[in-house]
Amino acid sequence: MQGVIRTDRILMGPGPCNPYPEVTEALVRPMLGHLDPEFIALLDETCERLRLIFRTDNALALPISGTGSAGMEAAFVNVVRPGDAVVVGVNGVFGERMCEVASRCGAEVVRVDEAWGQAIEPERLLGAHPDPSIIAVVHAETSTGVRNDIAALGAGKGEALLLVDGVTSMGGIELEVDRWGVDIAYSGTQKCLGVPPGLAPLTLNERARSRMLERPRSWYLDLNLIGRYTGSATGARTYHHTAPITMIQALHAGAGAVLDEGLEQAWERHRTCGSLLQDGLEKLGFTLFAQEGHRLPQLTSVWVPEHLDEAAVRSRLLTRHGIEIGGGLGEFAGRMWRIGCMGHTARVRNVTLLLAALEDVL
Ligand code: PLP
Repeated sequence: MQGVIRTDRILMGPGPCNPYPEVTEALVRPMLGHLDPEFIALLDETCERLRLIFRTDNALALPISGTGSAGMEAAFVNVVRPGDAVVVGVNGVFGERMCEVASRCGAEVVRVDEAWGQAIEPERLLGAHPDPSIIAVVHAETSTGVRNDIAALGAGKGEALLLVDGVTSMGGIELEVDRWGVDIAYSGTQKCLGVPPGLAPLTLNERARSRMLERPRSWYLDLNLIGRYTGSATGARTYHHTAPITMIQALHAGAGAVLDEGLEQAWERHRTCGSLLQDGLEKLGFTLFAQEGHRLPQLTSVWVPEHLDEAAVRSRLLTRHGIEIGGGLGEFAGRMWRIGCMGHTARVRNVTLLLAALEDVL
């Protein structure tokens, strides 16, 4: 039928992964009203599941209605005052986006740049400004496949708030909000949580909440208002906006699938698949892009040999084998591939299939 897509892809790009089967089931469940007690209970349970995956006891943990970028905006717009010094680590597209968002909030942005493919030394972030309000960094840089260290930032942050982008890390590699001293963290549903794009899990501790603006510049992302409807609220709920009910059902199911498996087991599955893929690519003659010791298992970046028509190879992988992988961004467009192995897609069988398919199309 026209307009109905039935193609069954293996999503190994840097964007969304294949949803967990429990998520697909949740997406077709009958709709509840956004104030139905059954839905409110499901929402509360979803927030509790997010707490467990963020590894936090924070009272405020909730899904922002919007993609990962909405989580980023919500994280900054609620705590940044005009003139605040905000230190931002930039070693890829998403650190760059953080600078843009912070600057639109009126911050004095202090950039700490590092070459793409390299991790940012925590000492450089800690020493970038004598008294920053916020130190912000992307945990898993999806544009390069690099993991930036977080724990040392929490230990050395002083009076600053530590704000972390966990869009590609949450559910895929160790992310310890409380233990690492992260004050604000946000994520996205479409990566290692195995849910379609559309929600941004977010959490703030009491330290960050005590510095929240009373009237942030965004009404939609105002956590004071959202918090009265969801997350930390108990008792009566005040309508703020109509919750994307179906997506919350999906996140409830995706977070449930991760927790049923066991969070640490899910990290281990990503690790196994990442090593298998990275070893397999090296055996095929590819050179990995990201700094050794800081390579993400869930997002592998690899140089494309100069003689290869990389777009044609990606297109053949898609049409002949139904496997999507991603190209490079910025100056690495046409020179690099980014291969995701996230959420439900992170399975040995998918890695084996991709390596065989690559051999076939090469
Ligand atoms: N941060 C990181 C690390 C990301 O990988 C992405 C998206 O890929 C985002 C932020 C923005 O998320 P979204 O595209 O869902 O708005």
